[in-house]
Amino acid sequence: MKYLIANWKMNLTAADSEEHVKLILKNIIPYLSRVNAVICPSFPSLAIVSELLSGSGIALGAQNCFWEEKGSFTGEVSPLMLKEFNVDYIIIGHSERRQQLHETDEMINKKMQAVFRAGLTPILCVGETFSERQLGRKDFVIAGQVESALKNIQLVNKKLLIAYEPVWVIGSGQAVKIEEAEHAVRVIKQVLIDLYPNLDLKNGVEILYGGSVDSKNINYFTSSPLLDGVLVGSASLDVDEFSQMAKIIYENLAK
Ligand code: PEP
Repeated sequence: MKYLIANWKMNLTAADSEEHVKLILKNIIPYLSRVNAVICPSFPSLAIVSELLSGSGIALGAQNCFWEEKGSFTGEVSPLMLKEFNVDYIIIGHSERRQQLHETDEMINKKMQAVFRAGLTPILCVGETFSERQLGRKDFVIAGQVESALKNIQLVNKKLLIAYEPVWVIGSGQAVKIEEAEHAVRVIKQVLIDLYPNLDLKNGVEILYGGSVDSKNINYFTSSPLLDGVLVGSASLDVDEFSQMAKIIYENLAK
């Protein structure tokens, strides 16, 4: 099985989401025996998408959450509230939130703890900016983000997804070379081994690549034994593209 996760970002209204999910359901069901498909719509679309996905084999994810369960936090949404809509996954630390909403490593760590407390699975996004890369700090940045996100968290009996998403590649239309994504996976694994010497890396932790994945390049990323799947932004908004990507993963895994 490989993950195919759609991050719809702030692109679709509830009515658009309904239309999209109905089309997706028509197209990708035959591939779900080998594809862990997850759709992450925006909050107002969760109710309708949850209803439509119920019993389909496609999981529901959210794009963000707050770190408290309830209280005076105007405008925020807790993992427990998301759980009510049958959300299983929550994207945490996406670079757009780190950059535009100024989410810090400390906030991301609190969100990770909250997601685990609610019994849900975080999709932790890590990745370097172009300038960090130019300064030769890429591995250091990735390792630091993983380490601080997992501070004070025990990973026993927990499921965790980590997506390596180089910030400069997101939405650029040009993915990194597979060797580069594989290198990042090794860096992330090393951090996990150092943090959790007894962790069984083959169970519970899945590492994905995200950044301009589409039906033309998904083959490289999902053929790699080091990568457990992909997180897709722009290309996931196109139903034909999304279905094609599911088909490619399915056919690859059959070989
Ligand atoms: C993302 O924002 O998580 C992402 C992977 O976007 P895109 O596929 O558009 O680069």
